[in-house]
Amino acid sequence: MRSTGKLHLGNYVGALANWVKLQQTHDCYFFIADWHALTTDYADTSQIKQNTLDVMIDWLAAGLDPQRCTMFIQSHVPQHAELHLLFSMITPLGWLERVPTYKEQQQNIKDKDLNTYGFLGYPVLQAADILIYKGDFVPVGEDQVAHIELTREIARRFNGFYKGSRNQEVLPEPQPLLTPTPKLPGTDGRKMSKSYDNYILISDPESVIRQKLKTMVTDPARVRRNDPGNPDVCPVGDLHKIFSSSETVEKVYAGCRSAGIGCIECKGWAADSIVGTLAPMQERRKKYENDPRAAWDIIEAGNAKARKEAEITMLEVREATGLSHDFPARRSGADSAKR
Ligand code: SF4
Repeated sequence: MRSTGKLHLGNYVGALANWVKLQQTHDCYFFIADWHALTTDYADTSQIKQNTLDVMIDWLAAGLDPQRCTMFIQSHVPQHAELHLLFSMITPLGWLERVPTYKEQQQNIKDKDLNTYGFLGYPVLQAADILIYKGDFVPVGEDQVAHIELTREIARRFNGFYKGSRNQEVLPEPQPLLTPTPKLPGTDGRKMSKSYDNYILISDPESVIRQKLKTMVTDPARVRRNDPGNPDVCPVGDLHKIFSSSETVEKVYAGCRSAGIGCIECKGWAADSIVGTLAPMQERRKKYENDPRAAWDIIEAGNAKARKEAEITMLEVREATGLSHDFPARRSGADSAKR
């Protein structure tokens, strides 16, 4: 996850909630991608460290548990950069230019110059992020599957050029672990995003959540109180489907379609559900808000563990690529001396 600062409900529903489950069943590595953040936000790095800490605090609030998973900061494990560099030697430019998000983001993000080497190469860095832990699975949404495929192609190309000490393949090809990503609209009905300023933060106090809900757009067909509406085309209806109990959802469908309830009442129920979902997270959050150093200590322990794992892979990678730090085996010199 990029170091974008405090997280919103879209981050929770789209990734974090699933990660909290995955930590029970898999040996998970989660990292805050500060180098990836620089691929688009390189011009001003003044907030990056605070943003990283804010992400970490929200992860802990959401229920990621340092006893069950490894959490770390990408740039604190420099081995990622070393593997990225080696991959950049073997990755054809055409592969990167074909990545669907490359052109799309260049067209959509107009206020930044994205004609940079780092921006083109960020899928290569992503490949290094995954392969350095020999990841078997990467939890992603449908839109990220192309990136995992590229990672698999890079692993294959690497394995084609270089072999391990017993002639084995060094890097396994990871599989995407498809995550259902329910549609989570922001208050203006578009996808919830910091860039649209339409978000509800995990850390928003109850009064702010209720206020934001009040301004949320609804089914445009419900102009007057007695016009019937349709929760399936209403962003508030989408929130109910994610956060409300089945009883509440039933009440919303019946009341909206018959114009038996008003939108203000319906939004109040949605706010209740969101406040109820966030309450245990905000309770956990308090501890780290009051003692952010404790969150930083957890990151540092995760950084150390990740560095150790990453270095194990890099020893193999350096050996395979002929770049190990050992004194050169004198085979060719000895051979020529014999001759
Ligand atoms: S009653 Fe609820 S679901 Fe129906 S239009 Fe109003 S806010 Fe949307």
